[in-house]
Amino acid sequence: MNIKRNDLKLSPKSDHKPAVHSSALIKVSTKSVASTSNFIRNIIDNDKQSGKWNQRVEMRFPPEPNGYLHIGHAKSICANFGIARDYGGVCHLRFDDTNPEKEDMEYVNSIIDSVRWLGFDWKKEDREHLYFASDYYDQLYTFAELLIQHGKVYVDSQNAEQIRMTRGTLIVSGTPSPYRDRTPEENLQLFRQMKSGKFPEGSHVLRAKIDMASPNINMRDPVIYRIRFAHHYRTGDAWCIYPMYDYTHCISDALENITHSLCTLEFEDHRPLYNWFLSELINAGALTHPMPQQIEFSRLNLTYVITSKRKLLQLVEGKYVDGWDDPRMPTIVGLRRRGFTPESIRLMCERTGLTKVSSWVDFGLLEAALREDLDEKPPRAIAVLDPLKLIIDNYPKDSKEICSAPVHPHHIERGTRTFPFSRELWIERTDFNETPPKGYFRLFPGNRVRLRYGFVVECTGVDKDINSNIIAVHCNYFSDSKSGTQGSNHYKVKGNIHWVSAAHAYCAEVRLYDRLFKEPHPDANGRDFLKAINPNAKRVVTAYLEPGAQHFLPEERAQFERHGYFIADRVNSVPGKPVFNRIVSLRNSWSTSE
Ligand code: ATP
Ligand code: MG
Repeated sequence: MNIKRNDLKLSPKSDHKPAVHSSALIKVSTKSVASTSNFIRNIIDNDKQSGKWNQRVEMRFPPEPNGYLHIGHAKSICANFGIARDYGGVCHLRFDDTNPEKEDMEYVNSIIDSVRWLGFDWKKEDREHLYFASDYYDQLYTFAELLIQHGKVYVDSQNAEQIRMTRGTLIVSGTPSPYRDRTPEENLQLFRQMKSGKFPEGSHVLRAKIDMASPNINMRDPVIYRIRFAHHYRTGDAWCIYPMYDYTHCISDALENITHSLCTLEFEDHRPLYNWFLSELINAGALTHPMPQQIEFSRLNLTYVITSKRKLLQLVEGKYVDGWDDPRMPTIVGLRRRGFTPESIRLMCERTGLTKVSSWVDFGLLEAALREDLDEKPPRAIAVLDPLKLIIDNYPKDSKEICSAPVHPHHIERGTRTFPFSRELWIERTDFNETPPKGYFRLFPGNRVRLRYGFVVECTGVDKDINSNIIAVHCNYFSDSKSGTQGSNHYKVKGNIHWVSAAHAYCAEVRLYDRLFKEPHPDANGRDFLKAINPNAKRVVTAYLEPGAQHFLPEERAQFERHGYFIADRVNSVPGKPVFNRIVSLRNSWSTSE
């Protein structure tokens, strides 16, 4: 029988990581801005003062290449790379790849791209600090033999079920394995045979000999090696025994001279084990003091978002989204495609700070950081997303004239953009109302509005189809009312609407994205998060844009006036035919209270 690490109760959540305890969550309001200084920096400052380390600060970000990075990982990336940078140190990118079945080079490449895109790198003094735990397999194996010789680990020949049954509970001690007192010689022989492929999967494991009565279940002789006849994406079929996460991680840290090893709070109960392995290897003369220090911080939980690779995979495989980089996904590739900037993600991570208390961060905080970052940057443009024809009956047919508008209203130095005005225009359907409610200042029969950057027009009537749907609005314009010309402002109007010339507009596919989930905590308390999917999170419209928008390159952004921020899709845009994604609307239309 195969030993699944789940069976060993090492992790109900993933194969080898502890579960996330979400019961003690509290809410952080969008307005609370945590200080950038944090308890981790205090620890580093104290270590510097006490002279604990005579080397630079070395940290690491250790993803498992079994999926794409998500916004939760961004938090860890910003913490590790950001702190190392601020202390003049270095942060390693290490792939924690000891799970042969699930890992792949595709994920390695995507993770490398995502960390770079977020603005970090692992180079210091011309040296790349890119590592793979799988490069330590020989070393890890040698250390395991050493621990066997020191009587610190043993080969257990119980099956997974027996190991699980004898592990005990929170209130009952575990029962020692009948194989616990094997001699080092016997253990060494068995372990070597495990390595040489003599035994089937699940027949033997290597376990640490710690304390079956420990109140911390992680210390009850955890498994550190298991047999797996699986192909590894880097080491191929060279190994049929693979080390477990808890054993690999601390040793990888030590081998890389990591000073401060950050992880999320679920690993707190694993810290004694982290320290146990390193202390025993120091005692055995394989490693030296000082040993890296594991420090836990609370993971990022964002409302309306799921940050579990397993559940994100479910969304992809179930075709609820169009792949890992679907603009609705909270993956880094998804956020990038949606149009989020690295700056906005870093800003949100900085503002939410690092603490020991589990909390929820409102998604609005990320959107606010995004709007803040975008407000000054992208040019403005006009887009009509829900078009209705406007015909200016007193404007000559086949004639046109050029109107102009600032590239950015706060930065006149960035110049102007131009677009033609003509007899037939597109306006927004919601900017006309045949029977307007009180306080409606836009177009209705008999009313005047300003066509932004153009002329004042007065509505004279409408055309309807046989079902009484309005298919066109008719107006007359005032030729002396052109924006920016002398005397144009003696026309006093309350409404100001946007438009594009029908003959000159760029007709484009525009995707209007919204939050992927309707509920702030879609997967709370084991709920079926698939039921909380927002069916309106993607709407595709055919829109009319000002002509200049046709020349947008992939990943170029604009604020479409009154509508929000948009980006030319990096995947589906082709030269001269960009497709646009809405990044975010101009204002938060979602309630920030839950
Ligand atoms: P998932 O829970 O999505 O499967 P993981 O924790 O198994 O992710 P890893 O690739 O092992 O994924 O994570 C790399 C690093 O990122 C780890 O140090 C992990 O603690 C950290 N990390 C993952 N999710 C979050 C989060 N939501 N907030 C902060 N850090 C996170
Ligand atoms: Mg995790």
